Amino acid sequence: MAFRVLDSSAFYAGIPFSSNEPSYITPLVYNEIDHIKKDHDAIQILIETKRLTINEPEDQFVNAANNAAKKSGDFSNLSDEDMSTIALSLQLKAELVTDDFAVSNVAKNLNIKVIPVMTTGIKHVITWKYYCPGCKVNFSNVTECPRCGNKLKKKAIKK
Ligand SMILES: [Zn+2]
Repeated sequence: MAFRVLDSSAFYAGIPFSSNEPSYITPLVYNEIDHIKKDHDAIQILIETKRLTINEPEDQFVNAANNAAKKSGDFSNLSDEDMSTIALSLQLKAELVTDDFAVSNVAKNLNIKVIPVMTTGIKHVITWKYYCPGCKVNFSNVTECPRCGNKLKKKAIKK
């Protein structure tokens, strides 16, 4: 059976809630989705019923993902969550469900099978909001905070 790794865009699109296939996410993605308070019980049930497993990728796979992202020029567009997701897909030889262009690009360069969120039959459209975890200010079109230099984090907004 093929493993499936989800990034946060796949998670926000509701894939783990609408599929019986077991999914994997990294601890960083779990922390990112943790703010969806209304779905919090649903997430706990997924974990308890083993439909969702949280797994930390090993360093060697994180390094391989970092190297591939630097090579393809996508590194500055990718968050730590994104990098961990690519690394876990590589480690588990899993299919990666994402709608993030940079994530897909790096994953394909590593011969990871990428499944676009769209093709899973999910209709929600996600847009991303970028914010500085230090200054708590939102930005667009930049990956680093112009005020303090922190790497920006992103949050999905359902339309
Ligand atoms: Zn800042």
